[in-house]
Amino acid sequence: MTITSKFNATKLSVAFVATLMLPVIALAYTEQNPFWITVSSILLPLGGYSLWAALSARSGRMVWAAGVFVFLSAFQIVLLYLFGDSVIATDMFLNLITTNAGEASELLSNIFPSVLFVCIVYIPLLWKASVHLAHKVELSDKARRGFATTGFVALVVGVMTLNIGGKGSAREILRDEVFPVNACYNFGLSISEAIKINNFERTSEDFVYNAIRERVVPQREIYVLVIGEASRAANWQLYGYGRRTNPRLAARNDVFTFRAMTTLSNTTHKSVPMMLSSVAATEHDMLYRRKGLPAIFNEAGFETYFISNQSPQGAMIDFLAADAENVVYLDAGEYDAALVKAMESAIKDNPAQKLLFVLHTYGSHYSYRHRYPREFAKYTPDEDVAISKKSVEQMRNAYDNSILYTDYFLNEMIEMLGGQADACCAMFYCSDHGEDLMDNGSSNFLHSSPRTTYYQTHVASLAWFSPLYRSQFADKVEAARKNAFAPATTHSVFHTMADIASIKSPYMEYSVSLVNDGFDYSARRLYVDDHNNAVALDRNIGIDAMQRELFRKAGVPMP
Ligand SMILES: [Zn+2]
Repeated sequence: MTITSKFNATKLSVAFVATLMLPVIALAYTEQNPFWITVSSILLPLGGYSLWAALSARSGRMVWAAGVFVFLSAFQIVLLYLFGDSVIATDMFLNLITTNAGEASELLSNIFPSVLFVCIVYIPLLWKASVHLAHKVELSDKARRGFATTGFVALVVGVMTLNIGGKGSAREILRDEVFPVNACYNFGLSISEAIKINNFERTSEDFVYNAIRERVVPQREIYVLVIGEASRAANWQLYGYGRRTNPRLAARNDVFTFRAMTTLSNTTHKSVPMMLSSVAATEHDMLYRRKGLPAIFNEAGFETYFISNQSPQGAMIDFLAADAENVVYLDAGEYDAALVKAMESAIKDNPAQKLLFVLHTYGSHYSYRHRYPREFAKYTPDEDVAISKKSVEQMRNAYDNSILYTDYFLNEMIEMLGGQADACCAMFYCSDHGEDLMDNGSSNFLHSSPRTTYYQTHVASLAWFSPLYRSQFADKVEAARKNAFAPATTHSVFHTMADIASIKSPYMEYSVSLVNDGFDYSARRLYVDDHNNAVALDRNIGIDAMQRELFRKAGVPMP
């Protein structure tokens, strides 16, 4: 046996091209693009990888130099297992840096099969490449010529089919549909976003809202924004769900639900900043130039609190929250009711007359089973299980129990605020996005998928006002009642909160405030896509005829 056959460079190079083509083939199947685009989305990467294999005589070096493509391929396969379709989104790269270790390990243990698969495929490849590197194994000239010819032919035909299928928009198709070009583009975009986020303090430094208060009551005022987590309207009893997941709130007659609220983004790191900011969907870039909700309340003379039951994210949420005079991150692992306790002691200890609280809950974030104490395990079995269609019932049970706990938590908060004698109080709740639970036989699960769904988009939102607030601001309360079906998005959150406190500023948009009878019912419902463009809720972002039917059934008006 000769040295060359012991270390077969041709075999390694073929394995390199073949394993990197796995996500390409899978995407060709899942993306259901027109025929010629599908053909070019296979031929272009095949050409590119084959030419790459021919580039260096040293097979081990060639594979390791393509390390970033190996990583992208492995990541893409895991995401395809998780979401069922779509290329790695910009938001997914940003999620990687904004998800804390606990969350990541909860998730990782449940996508174990796909992680195991990519390990079995790519670790031997990298291991072999290391051995080749150490022994300086070389690919024969003949084999290199073979790879170069294959690569060249595939590329030329790929470009031709791209132009046939692209019909003048070949560039956009290359950027959006050809893996790994699209993944690299999205990666670049996520880096540029991360830089903007890091520069936020500087770029928003001189921003002022010029806020004043139009109406002030002599009594103490306490206003609360509760940011929900992954709480979809579809599983709330208050929104017509068949299970009794809101027994406490349903028994009250002083809760105002907003039944047609949709989120601007199905990811936390993008949705929450847009809830805390005054910027509209159409001006996403302004997000980095304007301060957020705590800042406008500071200007209006409030003592402000941001209390979070999530860990700091290293992202925009933290920066917008940092303007609050009091920023508190509770210990990891607390149930959300700890937020009520923290707020109650702040109200007791702080003599300030005007108070704003922004509470960031953990809500129904996966793994649901860990979001509620055992006494709320009304629906069983609810054990932690690997994500699979076989376990849909268990996952749904655990999810519903987390909603049941949110019902308890919000009711506790209302009771506590109601107990503040002589204070003028209001509470506004809105979830950051919804959640998929492998509904109707689909394999969609969790949120943040590149294409959204009805279940990820339609979120729970409600308000409560104390008796004193109701008597002092009867017009706002009446508007909240009238706006029950207003076509609102999470862009309304900032403006509704500021309007609840009668704050006036040139940046206020009363036409999106849910406590204003000037709410604009003719406005188009928007969504912020993966490249931060404001788009309609249509099939390009996943809202196809079936999803529209789900919106219609839920009573959400769609144009
Ligand atoms: Zn979230």
